[in-house]
Amino acid sequence: MNRFLSQQLGAYGMPKYIFVAGGVLSGVGKGTVTASLGVLLQAKGFRVTAMKIDPYVNVDAGTMNPTEHGEVFVTDDGDETDLDIGSYERFLGQDLGKINYMTTGRVYLSVIERERNLGYKGKCVEVVPHLPEEVLHRIHACVEARRAEIVLIEIGGTVGEYQNVLFLEAARLLKQQRPDDVITLLVSYLPIPGHIGEMKTKPTQHATRQLQAAGIQPDFIVARGSQALDAVRRKKLAVFCNVQADDVIAAPDVASIYHVPVNFEREHVAERVLEKLGLAPRGKDLRQWRAMVRTSERQYAPVRIAIVGKYFSTGDFVLSDVYLSVIEAVKHAAWARKRTPVLEWVNTEEYEQDNKKLKQLGQCDGVVIPGGFGSRGVEGKIRTIQYLREHGIPFLGICYGMQLACVEFARNVLGLPGAHTTEIVPDTADPIIDVMEEQKARLAKDAYGGTMRLGAYDCRVRAGTHAARAYADTSWVSKRYANGDLRISERHRHRYEFNNAYRERCEAAGMVFSGVNPERDLAEIIELPKQTHPYFVAAQFHPEFKSRPLDPQPLFLGLIKAAEKRGA
Ligand code: GLN
Repeated sequence: MNRFLSQQLGAYGMPKYIFVAGGVLSGVGKGTVTASLGVLLQAKGFRVTAMKIDPYVNVDAGTMNPTEHGEVFVTDDGDETDLDIGSYERFLGQDLGKINYMTTGRVYLSVIERERNLGYKGKCVEVVPHLPEEVLHRIHACVEARRAEIVLIEIGGTVGEYQNVLFLEAARLLKQQRPDDVITLLVSYLPIPGHIGEMKTKPTQHATRQLQAAGIQPDFIVARGSQALDAVRRKKLAVFCNVQADDVIAAPDVASIYHVPVNFEREHVAERVLEKLGLAPRGKDLRQWRAMVRTSERQYAPVRIAIVGKYFSTGDFVLSDVYLSVIEAVKHAAWARKRTPVLEWVNTEEYEQDNKKLKQLGQCDGVVIPGGFGSRGVEGKIRTIQYLREHGIPFLGICYGMQLACVEFARNVLGLPGAHTTEIVPDTADPIIDVMEEQKARLAKDAYGGTMRLGAYDCRVRAGTHAARAYADTSWVSKRYANGDLRISERHRHRYEFNNAYRERCEAAGMVFSGVNPERDLAEIIELPKQTHPYFVAAQFHPEFKSRPLDPQPLFLGLIKAAEKRGA
C-alpha cells in the first residue's frame, strides 16, 4: 500500500472514491451529475467533497479566454478554476479551493519539480506510474484536508480521447488497490436523431467499451438525453455495457440544474451508490433543497434583469457559460424574493453602434455589468452606465463594471473627459483606474498566470449605505465595528484598482465609498446615495462567486429588491 493511502486509513478509517467520467460528447452534464450526487450523499449524512480534473495543459483556467472554456471561477484561496468548481460550491454549500482542482499542467509541474529536487531519489521518472501516482497523491491530500468520507472526482473530457488517459489510469490503479472503496459512473449521452425519432444506445455502448479498454468497468451509467430512458433501452444498455439494469440511471434534460438532485432522489441513486460502497445511509433529508427547487419552478411576478457583457457569442452560438455564476446569483436572489427571474443578454457592442438601443434598457427592472478585460465593448458599457445612472435604473457593477462606473463618473460628473483605466489608455490624462505597483512589475516580466489580485479579501462596509443595508443581518458579516460598520469578505480577480488620488473629488461630487479594504485602503464598493439613485452599487470584487441557492448574495438581493420596486 502506498504511503499516502496508509496515512489516509490511519486518519479517518475509510474514505470512499467516486469517479465520474463522460462518454460520447462533452458538455453532457458531468459537473451537474457530480454536484447533484454530492448533495444527495451529504443529505444522507456523509462528509462529502468534490474534485475536478481538467485535462488541459494550462496550470489553471486563468489564462484561458472565457469563450474557450466558460467562466473562470475563483475560490477563497485564490485559485482560478473551471466553472464546475463553482457548481460544486453552490450545490454542496461549501467553500472549496486549490486542493479540489487539478489540471494536466499542474500534475506535470509537480512531478517535474519533484524530479528537479531529487525527490525521486535517482529513479527514472516515467509517465506511468509517476503521473497517475501524483494524481492519486492529490486526491488523497484533498480527502485529508477536507476530512471527507466520500470524495467525488470528475474527470474532464470524454473517454476515448488522449487527454484524460492518465486520469483514468489513476482511477484504475486506485480501484485495483482498494476494490471495495472505489466506484465509477459513466455519464453518457443518448441521442435521438431527428430522422429516426428514437433514442440510440450505440454511442454509449462504444463509450463503455472504451472505458473498459482503459481497465475500468463502470458501476453506473447515467443516461443523459432529451428524454428519460425507457425500459427497452435500459435493458439494452445493461446487457451491452455489463451493468445491472438498476444501475442505469435516467437523467433527462431538466428546466433547472437544481432539479437534478430531486430527480436522482426519486430514482434512489444515493442509496444505490452507498450500497455499492458498503455504506448505510445515516438519515437526514433533502427538505431545504426541495423547497428551493419548488420555489424556482413556481411562476411568480417576473423581475427582468439585463446582463450587459461582451463574451456572448462565438459563431452562431450564445455562450451564457461565460457569466454562469452571475446568472446563478441573479436567480438565487430572485427566488429568495419570490420572483421569477427573466434574464436578458445584451451585447454591449450594440450600444456603441446604436445609441437608441440604450432606451430599451428602460424596460428592464435592473442591470448587471459583470467583469471583463480589454477594450472591446468598453465605450458601450460606459454609455450604459451613464444611462442607468441618469435614469435611476437599478445597477450592480462587478469588477470591470465597477471600474467603468468610476470612469463614467469621472468623465460625466467630475468633468474629466479623458478619464480612463490605464488598462485601455496607459497614458490617460486622468487615470482614475490604475494598475498597482506590484502588478506593474509582474506585467513587465510577462508573468500573467495566477498573478492578479486573487481570492478572498476583507472589506469594511460603511454603516448607513446600500451595501451595509444589504449585508446587515446576514451570514456574510464576520465582525461589527463599534460605529456600525461591518466586516465582510469577498473574492477578487483583477489587476487594476480605483486610484485614491481621485477619491476626495469623487466624494465631493456625491460618490460614496461604501466598502474599503481595511489593510490597504483600496476602494472595494462604490455607490450613489439612496437620495439620488434607488440602487447604484458597484464592487471591485466578484459577489457572484459566493452566492448559493440556499444563501443568496446580499448585493444581488439588494439589486432584486430595488428592481422589484421599479417593476411594481
Ligand atoms: N480588467 C480589469 C482588471 O484587471 C477587471 C477584471 C475583472 O473584471 N475581473 O482589473
